[in-house]
Amino acid sequence: MDLKLIGERQRSDYAARRLAAFATHCRKSGLAVTPQRLAIIRVLLATPEHPTAEAVYEIVRQEHPHISLATVHRTLDTLCEIGEAHKVTPLHDSARYDGNVAAHHHVVCVRCRRIADVELPDADRVLHRRATIGEFRVIGTSVEFLALCKNCQAEAKQNHE
Ligand SMILES: [Zn+2]
Ligand SMILES: [Zn+2]
Repeated sequence: MDLKLIGERQRSDYAARRLAAFATHCRKSGLAVTPQRLAIIRVLLATPEHPTAEAVYEIVRQEHPHISLATVHRTLDTLCEIGEAHKVTPLHDSARYDGNVAAHHHVVCVRCRRIADVELPDADRVLHRRATIGEFRVIGTSVEFLALCKNCQAEAKQNHE
């Protein structure tokens, strides 16, 4: 199977397309395009980190010092509701936010909880979107690979020496 991380270049092209369409999509969803909403979607699209609400807050408040953590939480929920972001909970941990709403999969470090986006074109062809499983109709597939990132591999090795 062809397993590969979604690269920086591919991600920034995607982010540029999403940002260009953001204002129109907000208005269509009956949402005003506020500077805070723009700042938050920018952070989500700029980072591959799948940040927590707290991490988004730390970045956004450098430009918007009066924004509250509650506003960031609320805005992230709103962005999820209109399909501009997804909430992911790797290893059933605290919520992390994903600006990549195109179909993709994740590899998660079980030690530091780092998440990266993965493309699985071969699997996506096999896991047909219109399949049914018993009484369930499949609407999508999300694979989570459990892994150790480069840093954690090194630390795990050190601890065993
Ligand atoms: Zn790690
Ligand atoms: Zn993702």
